[in-house]
Amino acid sequence: MELESLISAQTGGCQEDCAFCSQSIFYDAPAQRHAFLPLDQVMAAARATEASGASAFCIVVAVRGPDQRLMNQVLKAIESIHAETSLDVDCSLGLLTRPQAEALRDAGVHHYNHNLETSRSFFPTIVTTHTWEERVETCLLVKELGMELCSGGILGLGETWEQRLELAYELRELDPHEIPLNFLNPRPGTPLAGRRPIEAKEALRAIAIFRLVFPDKIIRYAGGRELVLRDAQALGLVGGINGMIVGNYLTTAGRPAAEDVKLAGDLGLPIVPSTRTAAETEAR
Ligand code: SF4
Repeated sequence: MELESLISAQTGGCQEDCAFCSQSIFYDAPAQRHAFLPLDQVMAAARATEASGASAFCIVVAVRGPDQRLMNQVLKAIESIHAETSLDVDCSLGLLTRPQAEALRDAGVHHYNHNLETSRSFFPTIVTTHTWEERVETCLLVKELGMELCSGGILGLGETWEQRLELAYELRELDPHEIPLNFLNPRPGTPLAGRRPIEAKEALRAIAIFRLVFPDKIIRYAGGRELVLRDAQALGLVGGINGMIVGNYLTTAGRPAAEDVKLAGDLGLPIVPSTRTAAETEAR
């Protein structure tokens, strides 16, 4: 079991219209909004992550893609985290240009997270301000430059079971290092506010299917698991999950990391550090 924690380093005000997201300027959703956090706050979160037993820390910002100012802030944060902790640093900064991806690789970024969100056929129902193909381009760029790709999706947006399978096989084409599975936690004010979360049984079935499609990958529990699975979270670990985002998510609270560490221990699943890429090892 591999544990990762994330920080929403810049929250809200995003100019994209992803229908599930309370950080979009298109919706009147009561989400927190702040510019890139001061470095000492990012470092405090990184130290807390290290103390929790997690081995990776992901810097997430709510943008279509980073501008130069934001890149500079992220690169400074990566340098400080590498200098002061043993954590692997992951990033999720949206769509990337080649020079931006190269800068992140050269800074020793471990994983780049860029979810497909949902299947190609369902994507235009959920997002209209950018295309599924643009997301794939960034995913391919990340891989081409030697970073590990972390790409998954959100289940429960209104997609059919066929579209869940479509997503799984589209992800298999991309061959990411790990696949985060989110379950929709409907956010007030968004177009999906009234959608019923999927049932625990449905989520467990999806986990099992993704494990069959990806027998040797990290499949990571991400947002919405507490809401959808509640006491059945352990069954997901038995059924195929081998990574967890611990602590809080971007705009919703998770449960204390210690509970997840205990759960993994109770199930006899050892906590292991993430493996490092050649590019990352060289940069560090
Ligand atoms: S999911 Fe990401 S890109 Fe879409 S609105 Fe939210 S922050 Fe912006």
